[in-house]
Amino acid sequence: MTAGTTTAPDVFDVRSPLTGEVIGTYPVHGPADVAASVSRARLAGTWWDWLGFAERARRLDRWRGIIARRSDELAELVRAETGKPRADAMLEVVMALEHLAWAARNAKKVLGPHTVRSSLLMLNEAASVAHRPLGAVGVIGPWNYPVFTPLGSLSFALAAGNAVVYKPSEHTPGVGAWLVDAFAAVVPEQPVLQLLTGDGGTGAALCRSGVDKIGFTGSTATGKQVLAACAATLTPVLMECGGKDALIVDADADVAAAADAAVWGATSNAGQTCLGVERVYVHRAVHDEFVAEVVALARTIRAGTGPEARFGPMTTPGQVDVVRAHIADALDRGARVALGGLDAIDGRVVQPTILLDAPEDCLAVTEETFGPTMTIAKVRDADEAVQRANASRYALGLTVFSRRNGTRIAARIRSGAVAVNSYVGFAAIPNLPLGGVGDSGFGRVHGPEGLKEFTYARSMTRRRFRAPLPVTTFRRGPRVDRLIRVLVRLLHGRR
Ligand code: NDP
Repeated sequence: MTAGTTTAPDVFDVRSPLTGEVIGTYPVHGPADVAASVSRARLAGTWWDWLGFAERARRLDRWRGIIARRSDELAELVRAETGKPRADAMLEVVMALEHLAWAARNAKKVLGPHTVRSSLLMLNEAASVAHRPLGAVGVIGPWNYPVFTPLGSLSFALAAGNAVVYKPSEHTPGVGAWLVDAFAAVVPEQPVLQLLTGDGGTGAALCRSGVDKIGFTGSTATGKQVLAACAATLTPVLMECGGKDALIVDADADVAAAADAAVWGATSNAGQTCLGVERVYVHRAVHDEFVAEVVALARTIRAGTGPEARFGPMTTPGQVDVVRAHIADALDRGARVALGGLDAIDGRVVQPTILLDAPEDCLAVTEETFGPTMTIAKVRDADEAVQRANASRYALGLTVFSRRNGTRIAARIRSGAVAVNSYVGFAAIPNLPLGGVGDSGFGRVHGPEGLKEFTYARSMTRRRFRAPLPVTTFRRGPRVDRLIRVLVRLLHGRR
């Protein structure tokens, strides 16, 4: 454990969803441990900030090198803690490293001092703005992508010059510890990145600790608790919350490509993806063809715990109950099963499930299911698809398939990101910010916005010469006041 403990800690066990066996035991860090970590982070943050962009980039690059060289080991740990196939774990690692590389390479360009134009009245002042690190930042992560998701905050907060206290999900503390230990190997001087383990209580203590910002990724329900806790100390928050993403298939779509994207988007990672495809709206002209394609493809995808499985079991037992409740509610309300259904649930393993004619107000359409399921609805035209897709209170990502109208449809979508004729590309492009609207949260990870998210803008002026019109002085005479009156009319009175 990287975080020191000030009291004899309680501990908790982590069990693999693949075998049910205990694969790790970790301390439950309490408020005193959290406070001690945050206090160490404040000092470490100053040291890290003063290291400067170039040296920080060097250290982050070396961290990236270690993760890449030992990626097999990391992917195996991700598999053991989440149950996902090793190849999918590796995909997650690769994507995370792309963002880490980008953050290290671009921090100075994005955040370093920039000269800005002065104004006519302030011509004698040189003006610039720099984005300064906040200091000690808390990051709270989920279990579904335990490398990609937290690194989306960690890489950018660190590259911006902050120290970070990281609290991973209680389901994936081993992956969290691995990442923090790898970082300590390249930054041995100071505890710039520390780990806290425990359950929601540890996360809650971090929110109350007075850190300079919380980067939260998790469910909308927990996000609201985090926001409420942070309000007490006026701690700013980044909220990366749940999703209920839709996929729209227009009449002129490449139906096979859309079906492929829908099946991968809905079932990969057992559907436990914030950007997972959960609702599909299909133009009536291609609806039946699309359903046939999707069912034929999804039939070939099998979930399980063995190495041959295309996706793994649900990571947490509680999530199986959510999936069951959503399917049952949809069936009670008149939905038809095209594939899977309640029989597709066997313990933690849920096979692909496709529901047709689910009413728009049933749980499977309105709430985040986070399982390998999708609802498919027939729509009159693209307008109806857009209107139904936009009706959700979640608005994280969306996918559109249309040969001619993709961009036009995408422009009318309310969500943090839209992909046209492919699935989820925006999450893998380091230049692009990622985040939600509405119940999917606010603030952004990745890209320039992701770097600025962990900074504050500091404006600076420097007097270059004596002001021709000195206004901020009691030595200002009536001549200056007369000139100001003339200027007001000249500059603003002619509109
Ligand atoms: P949770 O909301 O259950 O937990 C997220 C994190 O918050 C965990 O570390 C959890 O700890 C911690 N936590 C729990 N209670 C509190 C509290 N009161 N105060 C502070 N922290 C607390 O989410 P999941 O881990 O189940 O992750 C899945 C969710 O994350 C989905 O809704 C998914 O859509 C979303 N997500 C969003 C992404 C995005 O980019 N928008 C990306 C990935 C996931 P513990 O686990 O120990 O209880």
